[in-house]
Parts: sequence; C-alpha cells; structure tokens
Amino acid sequence: MGKIVLVVCDGLGDRPVKALNNKTPLEAARKPSLDYFAKNGITGLMHTINRGVAPGSDTSHLAIFGYDPEKYYFGRGPFEALGAGFELKEGDIAFRGNFAAIDSHKQILDRRAGRPENNETFVKAINGLKINNVTFFVVPGVSHRAAVVMRGKNLSSEVSDSDPHREGLSPLTVKPLNKNKSATLTSNALNKFLEKSRDILTTLPENAQRIKEGKPPANCVLVRGAGIFKKIPLFSERYNLKSACVAGGSLYKGVARSLGMEIIDVVGVTGTAETNLAGKFKTALQLLSTYDFVFVHVKATDVFSHDGDYLGKMKFIEKIDSAISVLKNSGALLVVTGDHSTSCELKEHTADPLPIMISGPGVRMDDVKTFSERACASGAMGHIKGLDLMPELINLLGKTELYGE
Ligand code: ZN
Ligand code: ZN
Repeated sequence: MGKIVLVVCDGLGDRPVKALNNKTPLEAARKPSLDYFAKNGITGLMHTINRGVAPGSDTSHLAIFGYDPEKYYFGRGPFEALGAGFELKEGDIAFRGNFAAIDSHKQILDRRAGRPENNETFVKAINGLKINNVTFFVVPGVSHRAAVVMRGKNLSSEVSDSDPHREGLSPLTVKPLNKNKSATLTSNALNKFLEKSRDILTTLPENAQRIKEGKPPANCVLVRGAGIFKKIPLFSERYNLKSACVAGGSLYKGVARSLGMEIIDVVGVTGTAETNLAGKFKTALQLLSTYDFVFVHVKATDVFSHDGDYLGKMKFIEKIDSAISVLKNSGALLVVTGDHSTSCELKEHTADPLPIMISGPGVRMDDVKTFSERACASGAMGHIKGLDLMPELINLLGKTELYGE
C-alpha cells in the first residue's frame, strides 16, 4: 500500500520582502530538492482554516489532519500536557505554564525566571498538590516551561489566564468566563493553587541559591490557554493508516498524540533552528518501513518570521532543502506545506494562503517547476482548505470509497 510523508514547515508562507528584491524568503532561497519535488509533483495554495483567518498552530494542524477545529479544538493546554508526555484523562483541565520570577511586591521581574536549565526541582515541589478536591499535576517542559493539569469533578476550561504576558505587572487573578458553577469552582481552586505554589517556591533552598548567584528565582507559576481534554477519534481508525510523528515542539507532539500517532524521539531534535534536520528526515525515511503515514514538523521557519529575520528564514529553508533530499526515492507520497503563513515584516501569523505540493506515485504533475508562494499559485491543485488535504491524499492512495453506485 502507498505511504505518505507529510512535512509541515511552521509559518512557511510569507510576504514579499523589499531587501530580497520583493521575493519571499521561500522564493529567494536556493532549494534544488524542493524544486525537484515541485517539478515532479502537483502544486497549489492552501488556507488551512479559511480565507481571512490567521490560524494558530494548534487549530491549523487539526485541520491539516482532517479534524475540523470547530468540532475538535478544546484549547491549547491539553496539547502542551500531552506533548510533554502526560497521560490526560477525559475532563482534565490543562494549561500552558511558565515558571516566572516575582519580587516581594508580587511584580513579575522575569516571565521566564531566567530560563533555568531544568525545572525539575521546582516542578517536584508543587506537583500533586490537592486543593478543594482538585489534584494539580505539574508537568516539566523545556527550561521555564511546564504544563499544569487540574483533575477533579465538574471542572471547566472557561477560565481566564493568570499570565499578564508582560513584566512589571502582578500575576492576574484567574476569573470564571461564564456564570456556571463549574467555572467558579475551577478558578477558585486554581487561584489557591497558584498562591500556594508561590509560597512553596519562595521558600525553596534552590531559589535562595539562585538569588545568591544573581539569577532570577523561579518562585511563581503563570498559566494560560486553558483547555479541557476530550477523547477524539483516532487517526488510525479514521483513515486506516498507522501513523508516526517526528517533531521537536511539545505542541506538535501533543496534537499528534491526541490523534493516537506514535511519537518518535530523534536525538538532537529540539524545535529550534539548531535542530537535527538531517536526523529528522532520515528517521522519516526509515519509519516508512513500519508506518503508513509519517508527519514531520519543522518549527524554526515560524520562529525566524516572528523575529523578523527573513535572511535567517531563507537560510533555514535552504537547510531543510538539503536534509529533505533523502526522501527523493522513498516511493511514498511526499507533501510539503506549512500550517499558516507568518510574515517576517509583520512578525505575526497572517491569513495568506500557503504553498503546497504533493509528489510521488499517482500524482498528476503540473507545469510548476519551483516551490514557492508565487509559483504554486498556478499549480493544478488550485486552492484547497486544510480539511481537503487528507481526502486528497486518501484519493491518491486509491482508497477513496465510491459515492453512489
Ligand atoms: Zn504554526
Ligand atoms: Zn508562530
């Protein structure tokens, strides 16, 4: 049976950059492999959600995998917790969390607590606390990051953030976002937990040591992005495809895990510009012997865009190009696209469509010879939405069911 490799370069699409002779970073990049695939494939443009919608990475990935976010998106927090390796139960409320440094007036000095090398001691000190019949789990992430999970009866994700997203302010009191009892109950327990964890973290010897060394203490937890965990239909059941995920960022691993994909760890894969790109694509190639669908996520294209670093983005695309060449004779369908456009000029996600290409067996090649926003606009795939992608791929595999007789 045919196999699929789906490569999502985060924030791949962009706008023309003056300093690149009005080319986008993708247009300006030297990319013989990507151009080879485009030349031997079919191309088009894709809005992962819809025209006029600038998607987040969570909703756009759900759509690309064929899960309508209107129906299956329950907030960012659960994906972060799953991506960090935590086993969520139906009804758990999860948040993205940060260890931060606050002063004696409860003002935030550093939202990232000086980016500690690891946060296990801090996590351990506050993990498992029980307040008002709610158990709080803290799941360590990279550096200052952690996910916070609330487990108990009748909890709600309709609560606000404690993270003010700025330094110099105090952590916000979490508020219920509707009048339901469960939202009030959830915010009350969460506020108590956040206060108690500040007390515990403040007296931790490790923090006294950090202050002594002139480092910001990790004496506060900030939470945001509440979401409720609900089980959703498995990818394997939906498409009858055994699937695996190669990604660095916890969000992407979390989305994949929520769909039941196998998470494959590769040495040196970090979700940053220094990630082991060669290892990622080599692993993807090897995984094709065991899996039908391999999802590869590359994060740094988006990070460069948020920093406005168009040259960095262009050079990183060139690195992707060189690493992806190992897939040239894989025999699988190769899809390359992004989850949304991120403009280096605006430094944020935009609603601009993304270039997409599919090459491999059964693909009706078009006349497009390069992989870029402009070139793919005249591709034979035309314009698709994120939710169209999986049906297109299932068709290419020859597995589409007959409609009618
Ligand atoms: Zn993204
Ligand atoms: Zn982004």
